[in-house]
Amino acid sequence: MALLEIQGLTYRAHDKEILTDLAFSMDAEEIHALVGTNGTGKSTLAYLIMGCEGYRPASGEMRFDGKMISGLKIHERAAIGIAMAWQEPVRFEGISVREYLTLKHREADPSHYLEMVGLSPELYLGRMVDKCLSGGERKRIELASILALRPKLAILDEPDSGIDMLSTQDIINVINLFKQNGSAVLLITHREEIALIADRASQLCRGGIVCSGSPREVAEYYKSRKCLVCDGEVCHE
Ligand code: ADP
Ligand code: MG
Repeated sequence: MALLEIQGLTYRAHDKEILTDLAFSMDAEEIHALVGTNGTGKSTLAYLIMGCEGYRPASGEMRFDGKMISGLKIHERAAIGIAMAWQEPVRFEGISVREYLTLKHREADPSHYLEMVGLSPELYLGRMVDKCLSGGERKRIELASILALRPKLAILDEPDSGIDMLSTQDIINVINLFKQNGSAVLLITHREEIALIADRASQLCRGGIVCSGSPREVAEYYKSRKCLVCDGEVCHE
C-alpha cells in the first residue's frame, strides 16, 4: 500500500486553476524528488498535502497511510505523521532555539538534532529564532525540528534555495538522516544533482505530473525539451 496516494486533485485560487486532475503517489520510506520550473505549483501541492489554511482542493482524493486526509486540519495531519519544512524558513520573535526544538515533541535534550544538521548546541541552543540568525542557520534549525519529529512523511520545500543555501552535501546528509529515521521525503528541488539522490522523481508542469520515474529518466525528459504538456515552453522558460 502506498504511503501517500493522490488522485484527481484539482486546486483553484481566485479562479486560476493551479493543479488539474493531478495524480501522485509515494511509498513508505521513499525519497521522492519533485521538480518543475518556478510557478508550476510545487509549493501549492506541498501545502495541499500538509493541509495549510486556505488550501482546500476543488476536487480529488488524498489518502495517507490508509486514511482519507482531505478533510483533516493541518494539526491533525501533523499528528498522523506529516511534517513540512517551508521554502522560507521560520522566524519567530521571542523564542529560543531550545524552545523551538522542544515545542512540538517531548525530546528533553534537542542537542543531538542540532549536531545532526551541523550546528553546535553550545553556540545555538540559547539563541533566539529571529532575524539575527542567517537564512541558512534558520533552515538548519527547521530541519532539525522536523528530524526530531520523526514523521512518516517529511515535505522539504526547496531546502537548497535561499541566499546562503545549504550545499549539495548538506542536503545529502539531511536526506540520509531522514532515511535512518525511516521517514519518506518529498524533496522539492531545482537542482538536478540533488534530485539524483532520490529513489524516484516526478516533474510537474502546468498543474500536473508530466513524467514520473527514476531521477535520471526525469532529468532526461526535462532536458529533451519535448515536454508533452508545454512543448518545452514552460519547462525551459
Ligand atoms: P512553485 O512552488 O512551483 O514555484 P507555486 O505553487 O508557488 O509554484 O505557485 C503556482 C502558481 O500558483 C503560480 O503561478 C502562483 O502565482 C500561483 N498562486 C499560488 N498561490 C496563489 C494564490 N493564493 N492566489 C493566486 N495565485 C496563486
Ligand atoms: Mg515553491
